[in-house]
Amino acid sequence: MRTMAAIKGLGHAASLAALVLGSGVARADVHAAPHPAPPAGATAPSALPEPSAAKLAAVSSVDRHAAELAELSDRIWAYAEIALREHKSAAALADFAEKQGFKVQRGVAGMPTAFVATYGQGRPVIGVMGEFDALPGLSQKSVAEKTPLVEGAGGHGCGHNLFGAGSLGAAIAIKQQIAAGRLKGTVIFYGTPAEEDYGGKI
Ligand SMILES: [Zn+2]
Repeated sequence: MRTMAAIKGLGHAASLAALVLGSGVARADVHAAPHPAPPAGATAPSALPEPSAAKLAAVSSVDRHAAELAELSDRIWAYAEIALREHKSAAALADFAEKQGFKVQRGVAGMPTAFVATYGQGRPVIGVMGEFDALPGLSQKSVAEKTPLVEGAGGHGCGHNLFGAGSLGAAIAIKQQIAAGRLKGTVIFYGTPAEEDYGGKI
């Protein structure tokens, strides 16, 4: 099921890719969607630089993958695997990264669900991190009331399904800029398990 949260996750991917590609200009609102009108009395920000070609290309890359990224996020939501048991979730992200041309190393640091996906060579090295573990006891259908999918099972309480898929979307957008020769260097996506427990990022 396509959720609002899934759509927001894509916004995260576009913003993240655009921020990485920006030269210190924290302008994350380069998405083509129309901007809401400023509240009465407020002055709209002026003189912001136009987004660079690389940023616009990154955003359109995220748009091109929107359906696949939302499907990936929905799938990880449904898997709802808790810390260090994220086998299907990690595999879904790692497989997608591989399909997009990344070199994927699975089971890194002695953790079966940790992986590193790399594209490009040399510097700069751009790191993007993604999480995908769920929380115990939060099993939930995609509805606004508390309705577990499986009573007592795990569920995504803080959106790691989005964070995993959205961050990978950003890494893919950066990868495509490298592949097109618009950007030099290496992009590494760190698939970090057990964010909620045990510290898979360390
Ligand atoms: Zn969290």
